[in-house]
Amino acid sequence: MAKYDEKLQELKTRLLEVGDLTHINALLGWDQATYMPSGGAEARGRQSALLAQMTQEKFIDKEIGNLLDDLQPYADSLPYDSDDASLIRVTRVQYERDLKVPPKFIGELNEHGARSYQAWSEARPANDFNKVRDNLEKTLDLSRQLAEYYPGYENIADPLIDFADYGMKASSVRKLFADLREQLVPIVRAITSQPPTDNSVLLKHYPEAEQLAFGAEVVKQLGYDFSRGRIDKTHHPFMTKFSLGDVRITTRVKEDDFGDCLFSNMHEAGHAMYEQGIDMSYEGLPLGGGTSSGVHESQSRLWENIVGRSRGFWEYMYPTVQARFPEQLKGVSLDAFYAAINKVENSLIRTDSDEVTYNLHVMLRFDFELQLLEGSLAIRDLPEAWHERFEHDFGIVPPDDKDGVLQDVHWYADVIGGSFQGYTLGNILSAQFYNAALKAHPSIPDEMKQGKFSTLHGWLRENIYRHGSKFTAPEIIERASGSALTIEPYINYLKTKYGALYKL
Ligand code: ZN
Repeated sequence: MAKYDEKLQELKTRLLEVGDLTHINALLGWDQATYMPSGGAEARGRQSALLAQMTQEKFIDKEIGNLLDDLQPYADSLPYDSDDASLIRVTRVQYERDLKVPPKFIGELNEHGARSYQAWSEARPANDFNKVRDNLEKTLDLSRQLAEYYPGYENIADPLIDFADYGMKASSVRKLFADLREQLVPIVRAITSQPPTDNSVLLKHYPEAEQLAFGAEVVKQLGYDFSRGRIDKTHHPFMTKFSLGDVRITTRVKEDDFGDCLFSNMHEAGHAMYEQGIDMSYEGLPLGGGTSSGVHESQSRLWENIVGRSRGFWEYMYPTVQARFPEQLKGVSLDAFYAAINKVENSLIRTDSDEVTYNLHVMLRFDFELQLLEGSLAIRDLPEAWHERFEHDFGIVPPDDKDGVLQDVHWYADVIGGSFQGYTLGNILSAQFYNAALKAHPSIPDEMKQGKFSTLHGWLRENIYRHGSKFTAPEIIERASGSALTIEPYINYLKTKYGALYKL
């Protein structure tokens, strides 16, 4: 074993440098989205692209390949789940995947992403799709090129889906989504044919400072560690990480909408608690991040929805929020408040949509990604296609592009393909993981009513968080829940909760 020590150390040293460069680039991205003046955009894009290219060059260095080869017999001599064997296994998968893409292309992709993001952040408020059209055409070209570095796919979207959700393909996602859709649509119909829930109590004036303070207080109680994190304001909330000791979230506030800041916070804190819970010995290494976009999203949705929109949680939290906003919530019962935060309706914006309709927003985007990549839909026809499909699925026509095709940042900052399926996988998995936690600790719902979240947090840390990327998504799902991904727990969760709320 001793003969491998030096090589393993050499591998870790090199990988840590790659990790550090990646995190430095994340810091540039965080700054761009929070405090950077718009005049900094062009240089920032160039700097970020340079770093991304350098990071890629460093990672696909031949020496890392040699070290992985030399260490393979050592890995083979260890149990599958040992840290060293896992580091070598997971690094090899990433190495072989990244080796196929030239660093220059990664640089180009990043530079374009920064430029396109800047154009989008001006185009959206201006409701002007034409301002981003050329950029989006180029994004589509680059996305196709990226996929082409992985020939032999069944669908051109497959390599891009696989980056985000290892092991999934267009065909498997399609099948899963079709099964889910079949169950969801009747529930949506049954609810939206009823008179709409009154949620006007959430739409009163809630001052920004109070919302920010309350939002921070809530995530602290859930278990987000402020000694290793902080919250800043941004246009589009996100979580980012510069090390396991610095995992940040961002938020936004609408003074006429109580839910926006609070539920964004719980969502992003769910992502952040996952990263904060990773074994510290994985710091800066390929094992030291969440394992897939679907598993990551399961953690944000679990805290945002299964906990944060549950009646038990608000039995505990409602007196606090009433004390903080006495005027706004005077005479509003817990049941009325609970119904308001769980209002189901056909609405325009994915991130504001309720748990029941949310997945239909994802399916629409997933289908468009496939059509764009396959070439059956052109960028210039996208706004119109969006309007048509939206009317078909939701019965409403978006009044403009701002709240239509321009609403999500993803295609304007990254690639087209693999960007959205993780959200629905996350919803499905949030219920599957929560069920497994309940099985181990049936006391969790009662504890929540007392404001105690540590048992649930502890189970998640033990079974999911601490492993980082040591296991693939299918492996962690099986290990943590005892079965492969299944839509049953999620459908049961929705039917039970919304069946009671809407007397279905
Ligand atoms: Zn998320």
